[in-house]
Amino acid sequence: MRPRLFAVLAVGLLLLVQIESGIAQSKPVPRVIVVGVNGMEWDLIRPLIMKGDMPNLAKVIAQGTYGKLQTLSAPNCPKVYSAIATSTPPQENGITGFRVAGKTANTSMLKRDTLASILSNHGVSVGLANVPATFPAMPVNGYVVTGMLTRGKGCEDGILCAPKLSEVQGGEPIYPSSLRSELLANVGDFRIDCLRMPSAQDLRSNADKTVDDWLQQVSLVRTEQTKVFDYLLSHHPTDFTMMVQSCEDRTGHWLYPIQPHNVGYNSNVNSGHVEAFPDQYRAFDKVLGTILKYVDDRTYLFVISDHGIKPLREFEQQHMSMMGHDHGGDTPIIANHDFQDGDDVPGVLIVMGPNIKHSERLLGLNASVYDLVPTVLSLYGIKAPPQMRGRVLKELFDEGLTANVTP
Ligand SMILES: [Zn+2]
Repeated sequence: MRPRLFAVLAVGLLLLVQIESGIAQSKPVPRVIVVGVNGMEWDLIRPLIMKGDMPNLAKVIAQGTYGKLQTLSAPNCPKVYSAIATSTPPQENGITGFRVAGKTANTSMLKRDTLASILSNHGVSVGLANVPATFPAMPVNGYVVTGMLTRGKGCEDGILCAPKLSEVQGGEPIYPSSLRSELLANVGDFRIDCLRMPSAQDLRSNADKTVDDWLQQVSLVRTEQTKVFDYLLSHHPTDFTMMVQSCEDRTGHWLYPIQPHNVGYNSNVNSGHVEAFPDQYRAFDKVLGTILKYVDDRTYLFVISDHGIKPLREFEQQHMSMMGHDHGGDTPIIANHDFQDGDDVPGVLIVMGPNIKHSERLLGLNASVYDLVPTVLSLYGIKAPPQMRGRVLKELFDEGLTANVTP
């Protein structure tokens, strides 16, 4: 073959591959980081932002667009994160809750394509860390460190407990498997997800010490996970990265700063720990600070929560706080999100990036958990597949700068 003809054919082939993968040659691949905070609640974070206790989040809000994120009815983390990842309802994607037909939800039950698989197929590199319902880890064009519902020693059913990476059982917690030894060597062992809540028995005998010990462990878990995030962002940068924190929600269920007239109030537990839950958001803000080191001018940052969390309401009976609960086991629950009226516990959506409007508030509940994936896909020039329920959130973008956004 003549060299000239070969060159023309090679360039043609390259272009074809790039058109096929949806990435135009002239534009650099956008960088997107999604930070999920389970159950982040506007009612709690607003006063903290006003007081200056969440300076990093305040900075993102000032530079971005923000509002409420409409969630599903009776929301919980595996159900909503799977709806987010696939932009389809739970009945369609297969993950309807913590358990599906009596078994802990896992990735073999997923019946719809996820954002991570679609991006991977288009040549976009992907990193997922601690995202709920990603266990066992599925192959992607990048890495996966699994999150909530990972099973292991002392956490056999994987539900709302924190197995150590070295003690995971019943599936791969890491993709590719070589990353497992790399993380153990460079970051150390760490707990996946957040701790199980103390039992009612533990709280009866020595409430104060039980609460303090638990909160100390939660703080250690967050430190471990922050080191993992920092390592992955610095040593394994990917075009698309999603990282999730879970201890905020876990703390809120039993340490929400409620008043004596609220349902389920227990003066032994609740009177002395009114800052325990707000402290989780203050600590999250520091995690966000670590992540922001990796956010440059061309990075889109999405801070989201899958739902909010509210104190039990007048029509949630007193006994609800005492009975067995998906989240608490037998821990007395004083706040919840598993309400049928999910519009009462919307999540949080805060976005900043190259062509995102500044300090703009989205009104009402016009953004939904289904919209995240179509919006992210549009940034990569990929059209959302027809089964997806969400839409591109065009109102996030500065007018005239949406040229690279695929409807
Ligand atoms: Zn929860």
